[in-house]
Amino acid sequence: MPYAVRKPCPWKHGPRPCSRLIDSHEKYCAEHRKADDKLRPNSTDRGYGHKWRKLRLRILDRDGSICQHCVKETPSIYTPASHVDHRIPTQGPDDPNHWDESNLQSLCAKHHMEKTATQDGGFGNPKQAPQPLSKPVANRIYTSADFLRERAEMNRKAKAEEETEAK
Ligand SMILES: [Zn+2]
Ligand SMILES: [Zn+2]
Repeated sequence: MPYAVRKPCPWKHGPRPCSRLIDSHEKYCAEHRKADDKLRPNSTDRGYGHKWRKLRLRILDRDGSICQHCVKETPSIYTPASHVDHRIPTQGPDDPNHWDESNLQSLCAKHHMEKTATQDGGFGNPKQAPQPLSKPVANRIYTSADFLRERAEMNRKAKAEEETEAK
């Protein structure tokens, strides 16, 4: 077995540069991965604050709260969407694609997990090796009554959120 390719940890924010050898797929050594996490801005700064939540609801509404992948695979299947996903991953809130509605789609939990498991984590998160899902995510299929109920519930929550934020 050949040795895995190793490279020095590129951390430069400390008093001394770090050069511990790490696997080539890693971003930093274990210690500096933690330090890097702390430096990373919180979710609001990363573009997932209020503005995002409003946009997210608009996209879910546009897509009828239905997973766009499921419906493409089987047009008669409605699966509730739980995530709004960037079709093309963006560099964060400064990237115009981040707010571009045509770059956003509603996905069910299963499709969202499949997608994130095979692509870049975005926002400078290291690219993850494709991982098999540990557990298959069960998709619940909507009946039209479920669907209407779920929509009503979502609208109620969105309204409540707007009201609290308006205060
Ligand atoms: Zn390091
Ligand atoms: Zn789906």
